[in-house]
Amino acid sequence: MYNNFKNIEKVVYGRGAFDQMGDILEPVRKENDGFIVFVVDNYFRGKDLVDRIPTKAGDLIEFIDVDPYEPTTDQVDELRDYVLENLGMPAGIVGIGGGAIMDIAKATSLMFKNEGSSQLYQGLNLVKNPGIYHLGVPTISGTGAECSMTAVLTGPTKKLGLKCDWTVFNQVILDPELTASVPKNQWFYTGMDTYIHDIEAESGIFYNAFSKAYGDQSVQLCREIFLGDNAGQTPENDEKLMIASLFGGLSLTYSEVGACHALSYGLSKILGMKHGYANCIAFNHLEEFYGDAVNEFRQMVDMHKIDLPQNLSAEWTDEQVRQMAEVSYNLPHMWTHALGHDWKDKLTLEDIEKMFRRL
Ligand code: NAD
Ligand code: ZN
Repeated sequence: MYNNFKNIEKVVYGRGAFDQMGDILEPVRKENDGFIVFVVDNYFRGKDLVDRIPTKAGDLIEFIDVDPYEPTTDQVDELRDYVLENLGMPAGIVGIGGGAIMDIAKATSLMFKNEGSSQLYQGLNLVKNPGIYHLGVPTISGTGAECSMTAVLTGPTKKLGLKCDWTVFNQVILDPELTASVPKNQWFYTGMDTYIHDIEAESGIFYNAFSKAYGDQSVQLCREIFLGDNAGQTPENDEKLMIASLFGGLSLTYSEVGACHALSYGLSKILGMKHGYANCIAFNHLEEFYGDAVNEFRQMVDMHKIDLPQNLSAEWTDEQVRQMAEVSYNLPHMWTHALGHDWKDKLTLEDIEKMFRRL
């Protein structure tokens, strides 16, 4: 069975593209109760960008602090319930922020049309009805959440996406100007999510020419941005990283992530570590899966003088390591990609615990 891939319906890309949002939303406003919900990263509260959001009477701007924790099922349920009880059914929802905000917008869009808690829909194709119109505006590049078919949420028992065709954005606005203010460490960690998506996509059984075409372009852009003669956080590289993120997301959607993301999910679920950072912590110690790419990654870390702590596991209890290994073990699609359909013959829970103890 091959992946029947649902792409984003519409994409606009370029400096200043943010200002096209008003025109884009105009026809959408005829739907449902006619208002738009904007979920905006709290970083932008009080900044000029907020004055450029094309609000009309009846719209809601909800600022959300995405630190220190990743989005939760409760958070999405509460936002949905608040809006339905107080304002009605929105015409659309717009997410302006990083992967966390985009995932909140994607998940909430679905939850407006699906009853009960979002916990019920964590998994593949569990969502029953299409959501409302949703538009994504990344303000930091790397996760690929702008194009992926998943909205990753942390619930009481799992960190897992609401994954289906309806999760994919109807529209994205890719405006590289918006990423200029990202702090350097965060620029690196989230940017590395792209590089790691590319490397993981190519390191497993689901890799194919579709995934390779996007992944090759994405990894080439990452090399220019993070290792090239003009490496660093420049306007030109912001433009490249936004496309690298999109292509990395497309590459992994038509392949799969592997061991690094499996460990990263354990770190995020049990320790609350942020996704890009957790990936970097894990990738640094996975030579047996990613070979020379780990050395290339370390060159990037050195070149940009990034803080990447070692020996974190010295602080973890046996219980925490066991819990992280369990989260990781319960991501069979990732291990299948990394090790093959017989991965359970090759990898035990104890092996995964050992991987965590290396970090
Ligand atoms: P994020 O959304 O967590 O944001 C990271 C930090 O950057 C925050 O402090 C935020 O306030 C800040 N920030 C964002 N834009 C900024 C800007 N322009 N200027 C200054 N600060 C800015 O980071 P992320 O790495 O983009 O996303 C991580 C999240 O994405 C996780 O919750 C993860 O689960 C999810 N994710 C989803 C997918 C998917 O396919 N849906 C893929 C990977 C990761
Ligand atoms: Zn990722």
